[in-house]
Amino acid sequence: MFEKVKVDENECVRVSRDELFRVVKEVFVALGVSESDAEIVADNLVMADLRGVESHGVQRLKRYVDGIKAGGVKINPDIKVVKESPVFAVLDGDEALGQVVAYKAIQMAIEKAKKNGVGIVGVRNSNHYGIAGYYAYKIAKEGLVGISMTTSRPLVAHTGAMEKFVGTNPISLGAPVDGEEPFLLDMATSVVPSGKVEVYRRKNKPVPGEWAISTETGEIIDDPNTILSPKGAILPLGGLKELSGGHKGYGLAVLVDIMSGVLMGATWSRHVGGTSDRKSDVGHFFMAIDPGAFGDAEEFKKNMKKMIEELKNAKKHPNFEKIWVHGEKGHLTMETRLKIGIPIYKKVYNEINEIAKEVGVKPLQ
Ligand code: NDP
Repeated sequence: MFEKVKVDENECVRVSRDELFRVVKEVFVALGVSESDAEIVADNLVMADLRGVESHGVQRLKRYVDGIKAGGVKINPDIKVVKESPVFAVLDGDEALGQVVAYKAIQMAIEKAKKNGVGIVGVRNSNHYGIAGYYAYKIAKEGLVGISMTTSRPLVAHTGAMEKFVGTNPISLGAPVDGEEPFLLDMATSVVPSGKVEVYRRKNKPVPGEWAISTETGEIIDDPNTILSPKGAILPLGGLKELSGGHKGYGLAVLVDIMSGVLMGATWSRHVGGTSDRKSDVGHFFMAIDPGAFGDAEEFKKNMKKMIEELKNAKKHPNFEKIWVHGEKGHLTMETRLKIGIPIYKKVYNEINEIAKEVGVKPLQ
């Protein structure tokens, strides 16, 4: 059995997928979210934990609950289609939970792609939508190529800057593979997402790489508390220097801001708000492509399988145990955790149970 994250069993409690889903769903329902919307958010958060992306899993429940309490997130939003054609649409999320409006958007993109070969659906006026890969994965499971991107609040100092300015703006692409789980690239366009820094803050340990700079001196820093404060900023993918390609991560973050923000009539980079802010105006971009519209859908899946096999069978570097492809570790981790449960840090476990108690929901068993 494989788990991509090293788990210290003394620090964690293993909880079954269904139990975690139950509590998260019931908490949202207790706060006034409809059953069906609560299921979407719970499925998104639990899937992150199943795949070993603890930075974007149930450890964020408190943030969502606080967002609802602060009025930054509407529990009964009036989601509207602003514009629509057979191949595209733009939705106004009315400050909904990001997952709820994003799920609606991918359903529309899937339907359009199945009918017309391609479906592009953008969202404005939304909130944090969790892991980008959730949506690309769902699209890929329909036999389509899926792309998912979102703007996010400013945490990254772009190349040459010394302040939190652009988001960690993730990009995900999912594609069906013959007889296998989809290929799934799901990544922040910064060296790491803020959630990974939060994991080190919880462990009370310095971050292990050149992830961030001081906004006062510009030097590399490793204290997670400083990184997450106004005194620190995360670096774009590629790091501080042009020499290591930092400007390319910066460019990818701007790409996401253009496609999910500017193009969709949402805001961008430094203007994007957090979950507790009124009008955080997060924007999302989704695209579904039917491989059958461009060629033979079955051949596409077979060629995906062949390409992945070739990648994995390349001459191996001695410092690596094996060659992976994107999504593979996540799928194996999910398989394992569906069998033996999801490890939840005791601190997060207790926090979830406190929230559950506060809203009158049976705590985690
Ligand atoms: P990771 O660095 O953990 O992984 C990035 C990608 O690389 C994944 O597709 C992963 O697949 C793959 N991968 C990992 N190791 C290898 C390898 N050796 N060879 C090939 N592929 C590999 O992701 P990030 O830390 O950048 O992002 C974590 C999550 O944070 C994402 O889900 C992202 O969507 C989310 N996020 C959300 C934001 C928001 O505002 N909503 C903002 C920023 C990030 P695998 O899954 O198999 O490990």
